Amino acid sequence: MSKVEFNKEAGPREVFCGLTSIVWLHRRMPDAFFLVVGSRTCAHLIQSAAGVMIFAEPRFGTAILEEKDLAGLADAHEELDRVVNDLIKRRPEIKTLFLVGSCPSEVIKLDLATVAEKLNKRFLGQVRFLNYSGSGIETTFTQGEDGALKSLIPLMESSDEEKLLMVGTLANNVEDRFKKIFKNIGITNVESFPPRESTKLPKIGKRTRVLLTQPYLCETVRELKHKGCEIIYAPFPLGIEGSTKWFLAAAQSFNIPNLKVHEVITPLKTRALKALETHTKILKGKKLFLLPESQLEISLARFLHNECEMDLIEVGTPYLNKDLMEKELNLLPENTKIVEGQHVEKQLDRVRETHPDLVVCGMGLANPLEAEGIHTKWSIEMVFSPIHGIDQAADLAGLFSRPLRRNQILNTKTLATF
Ligand code: SF4
Repeated sequence: MSKVEFNKEAGPREVFCGLTSIVWLHRRMPDAFFLVVGSRTCAHLIQSAAGVMIFAEPRFGTAILEEKDLAGLADAHEELDRVVNDLIKRRPEIKTLFLVGSCPSEVIKLDLATVAEKLNKRFLGQVRFLNYSGSGIETTFTQGEDGALKSLIPLMESSDEEKLLMVGTLANNVEDRFKKIFKNIGITNVESFPPRESTKLPKIGKRTRVLLTQPYLCETVRELKHKGCEIIYAPFPLGIEGSTKWFLAAAQSFNIPNLKVHEVITPLKTRALKALETHTKILKGKKLFLLPESQLEISLARFLHNECEMDLIEVGTPYLNKDLMEKELNLLPENTKIVEGQHVEKQLDRVRETHPDLVVCGMGLANPLEAEGIHTKWSIEMVFSPIHGIDQAADLAGLFSRPLRRNQILNTKTLATF
């Protein structure tokens, strides 16, 4: 284990809840519908996080129960039934309907698993109903995906076929590129979970090797292990280094020599290194502070330090699963300060004391920090942008170099006016 410094912190938090992940899950599985059992606050959150109209149903599969409907449990069940019936009638293309729980105490009292079971019986063969929690009390925003994927696993049939299963939502074009690279390496049976169509779930079994594309899927991993799948432990495919080690780990588990992997990816690496140069020039030596939100923080810190030469002040993460993150932690420089959990006020004090050049944080903290003259980057952008893979390394670096470059230009212009 790398000699990083582990700290834990608890207190007030400032993070998005798991409802946010609906935005990218719906994009990935357009035949699925996410019925948020929540209040107007929940609708507002998704609307502001996603920047889309929540009620534009063809684009965005969410519906909200009115607060008045949550006043009584009996009423809430009735209302849920009414909304579901209405939805299924109006939207026959819906194949999978996720009931997503939220925070209000009236919603917590509802047993959504039982509701889903009853609806499954009623709409047998037409729509499948699943449930998970997106509540801010239980989840941070990427954990919503973990809950959604976990709920799908019981529906996956078993198979003895040898295969590689990439687990975690990827942009479709990134998935296609990964599959092409794996094919060239010699791994031909590659599937993805979640799939592009919610009803076309991959079959799994003892000869399924799971390769995670996202670091925040602890519950999903646990369930896949219960189903007998083998987990390939590797750094995550962010940046050139992480992606290379990710491909190598997959190839090793299929007994493919490292040489074959290098043969396939070397041209990609050469191109990516060149493209990265412009960004490294801007990022080199700049101080970075990552506040906890997405659970991507450790992988991002590794990329931004090792490949873009940024200095790490502190790396926050909402949760730290040391099994899944061990390979990443080993790649961090010695004495990197990792903080699991959050006490937002203490963390902001440390931000102010250490004068970082860039802070990666949630949208709620970005504006106040910018107002104090501290430059920020929203963590949520990392889950909405196609950042995985060797050929995306420069784009990933660009997400961080752009705000710094913009500020450099602004500063130069300001000085020129004096
Ligand atoms: Fe809804 Fe709770 Fe998320 Fe607020 S934190 S949007 S109430 S689920």
